[in-house]
Amino acid sequence: MIIMIKNYDNKSKKKGFLDIIKDFVSPYHISDNPYELESASADLTSLPSYHYKFKENYRANYLIRPADTEELSMVIKQCRELSIPITIRSAGTSCFSSATPSKGGVIIDMRRINKIYKIDPDKMIVSVGSGISWLNLIEALADYGLAPKCYPTSFKTSCVGGFIATPGKAGIGVLKYGTMMDSIVSLELVLPDGTITKISRDSNGELSLEDISGTYGIYGAISEVELSLTTLKTSLEVIGYGFSSIKNAIQFYTKIKDELSTKPFFLSISNQNFEKYSHIIFPKQEWLVWAVYYDDPEVTSKCVSLTKDIALKLNGIDVEKSYLKEKWRDISDAEVAIGRSSRNLIFQEYWISDQRIEDFFQDYIKDSNKYKFLTATYAISGIEGWSRIKIFGLTDISKPREFFAVKAFLHDLSIKAFSRGDRVYTIGIVNTFYLLKFRPDEVIKRKKLKEKVDPEDLFNSYRIIKARMKFWRISLLFNTAKLLYKI
Ligand SMILES: Cc1cc2nc3c(=O)[nH]c(=O)nc-3n(C[C@H](O)[C@H](O)[C@H](O)COP(=O)(O)OP(=O)(O)OC[C@H]3O[C@@H](n4cnc5c(N)ncnc54)[C@H](O)[C@@H]3O)c2cc1C
Repeated sequence: MIIMIKNYDNKSKKKGFLDIIKDFVSPYHISDNPYELESASADLTSLPSYHYKFKENYRANYLIRPADTEELSMVIKQCRELSIPITIRSAGTSCFSSATPSKGGVIIDMRRINKIYKIDPDKMIVSVGSGISWLNLIEALADYGLAPKCYPTSFKTSCVGGFIATPGKAGIGVLKYGTMMDSIVSLELVLPDGTITKISRDSNGELSLEDISGTYGIYGAISEVELSLTTLKTSLEVIGYGFSSIKNAIQFYTKIKDELSTKPFFLSISNQNFEKYSHIIFPKQEWLVWAVYYDDPEVTSKCVSLTKDIALKLNGIDVEKSYLKEKWRDISDAEVAIGRSSRNLIFQEYWISDQRIEDFFQDYIKDSNKYKFLTATYAISGIEGWSRIKIFGLTDISKPREFFAVKAFLHDLSIKAFSRGDRVYTIGIVNTFYLLKFRPDEVIKRKKLKEKVDPEDLFNSYRIIKARMKFWRISLLFNTAKLLYKI
């Protein structure tokens, strides 16, 4: 079947695009089915779907699932030849329209490039296709007594390549073993012109690992990755305390991070609304701080007893073990569960220095008290000194004044975060305008490199260097929303 691609110049040249692709990618993995395109052009938030309802740019024209690096490279070459925009997508869990199109064109779904090529138990290195899910990788490595050093709490579905291309600085194992970037030994990248290149820690080509990590795929598609690993441990303990004051909760959280020589495998702080809307029963105190220790039995029990000592001094109230165990077992589901309590869940993620985390939470408490809508928050520890704080507004688009007031509330907190030296965590298409406004030097540096590797700006466009939205327009919209909401 020959299909006309909408939106592009030089239409006749592109008419046979699908036929050309079918020469080397199985037709079962090429789609222009509107339902598939709609689902692949969206993410867990309602944002992309509202956008693509009105603007074709936010919906893909084709979905292609290459089987390996060669096929990926050939698809990308063909798109470049015909000036067709490309969006790279793994599991699409990153939200903020990170893995959704901004100029129509092709979505390349990476999840068939998911093989485990080599597990080296001596060097403790694994070599994988970047589209493998963390869950599949964890299960395969367990047979060798090995494990990834870190992964996101979305590990049941999200993929290795996705965590590399997003910040990868907060999640399970990060505080203990370092960020995603720290785990990468090397990676294979397919550049926007289809060339395949390998980048390792010591390579000194045009692109370095730092350029690829956290840059949302704007410089190419990561196809294969070599990761350094750790060993499986034999003892896991979950421990948590409730606090009535945010001050004590934060002190407890930061003391655990700073004072213990063996860091927790996972550490989180949440408010009662988060617990209430993501679980059926929940602790009575306003703040919950809980940690997971995962090590050899002696180390784990020492950490647990040190944690107890710190909690006692700060008037922490023991939280039932069964509750914490359930939280750990369902760690991937908590954020999704809170979504059930609201028709249109809106959230923002902030990357906050631990030195300013109390100020940030105090701002959140003060600002949220001005509004009538429900909010909830939880944070997970990132690398030493930093945390990812997520704030949810539980609302419904059928109440547009409230819907936009929630956005205004989150926007105000973003401005406060940037003005203090912090930032928003996930950028995607949605948050790029903040970088343009508050981090222009960073943007200029990335832009220069982008112009070299993708002069036509066809690859994962409108992320981190160029925004679809303007700061002043968003601010005007949200300030108006606050007036209408009578704030
Ligand atoms: C319930 C839940 C829990 C989460 N927990 C965490 C957490 O603990 N820590 C955290 O940091 N984030 C977390 N996230 C956010 C998200 O899950 C992570 O960022 C995850 O790593 C994204 O992986 P993905 O496979 O879904 O990538 P996608 O969402 O598909 O893609 C993310 C970005 O990377 C690009 N990309 C994807 N694959 C490639 C590739 N192979 N080459 C080049 N670019 C690529 C995409 O274009 C996009 O810009 C969570 C999200 C949810 C819904």
